[in-house]
Amino acid sequence: LRSNEQESEADWQIYERLVGAFYAENSGIEVSVTSNARLEGQISGIPRQIDVLIDARWGDNLSRRIIVDAKYRGRKLTVNDIERFEGMMKDCRAEHGILICPNGWSQGAKRRAQDAITIHLLSLAELEARTSWASIEKCIGECVHIPRKRSRKGLVIWDGNHAINEEERIAIVFSGKCDVCHNFHVWCWDCGEKFALSHEDEHQCYCERNWVTAIEEETQDPTGETLNAVHLLLSTPHLMLPLDRLQLR
Ligand SMILES: [Zn+2]
Ligand SMILES: [Zn+2]
Repeated sequence: LRSNEQESEADWQIYERLVGAFYAENSGIEVSVTSNARLEGQISGIPRQIDVLIDARWGDNLSRRIIVDAKYRGRKLTVNDIERFEGMMKDCRAEHGILICPNGWSQGAKRRAQDAITIHLLSLAELEARTSWASIEKCIGECVHIPRKRSRKGLVIWDGNHAINEEERIAIVFSGKCDVCHNFHVWCWDCGEKFALSHEDEHQCYCERNWVTAIEEETQDPTGETLNAVHLLLSTPHLMLPLDRLQLR
C-alpha cells in the first residue's frame, strides 16, 4: 500500500511539472511562465500556490495573467472544483484560468466553467509525449544547499530564449526559473556559463557581462502596495535590459 501511495504522489508531481514545462515550451517570449509560483492573494492577503503562472514578461499589464492548475485526480472534475478554482483566480487577479486534468469533467462543471475557465483533458502519458524535456534541468541555485534527505529539490524550466541586440551583434541568452527556490537561471551563450541568481543578487559571467536581480515596485498598482516583482536584468554601461520577472503579488 505504501509503495502505491508513494507512486501516486510521484505521478502527481511529475504531472504538475510537465504541465509547467508544456506551457514554457508552448508560450511565446512575450510571456513569463513560472512553475509552482507563490503570489500574495489580493483579497486574502495570504500566499497562494499556483501550479503555473503565466504573466506578461514586460510591462505592467495584468490582463495577460493566466493561472493553470494541474488537477491530477482519479475522478472527473466537479462543479466544486471549478468554483474553488474561480475563487483562486479572483484572489490572484487572473481573468483567465486553465484546468488540466486526466479524467474529464461533469456536465455541470463544463457549464460552470463558462468563458473564463478552459478545461483541457491530458493524461500523464500524453503530457510526457508532448513535452520535449529539453526545457527542464536541475537547479544550480539555492536548492543545492537543501539537505539531501529533506524535501524535494527544484528543477529549472527554461522559458526565455532571448536574442539581445547589442551594438554590433546579437547575443543569445536563455533564462528560466527554479520551481522550488525560484532562483533565476541564466545561460549566456557567448561564454557558455550557466548560473543562478537569488532575489537581490548580481553576477559577472565569464564574458564580463553583468547580471542583476532587483525587487521593484509595480507602478500601476491601485492598492499602492510595494515590492511586487523580482526582476532579472542585464546591466550594460548604457542601460538595464529586463529579461524576466518573478511576480510576488
Ligand atoms: Zn532551486
Ligand atoms: Zn557570458
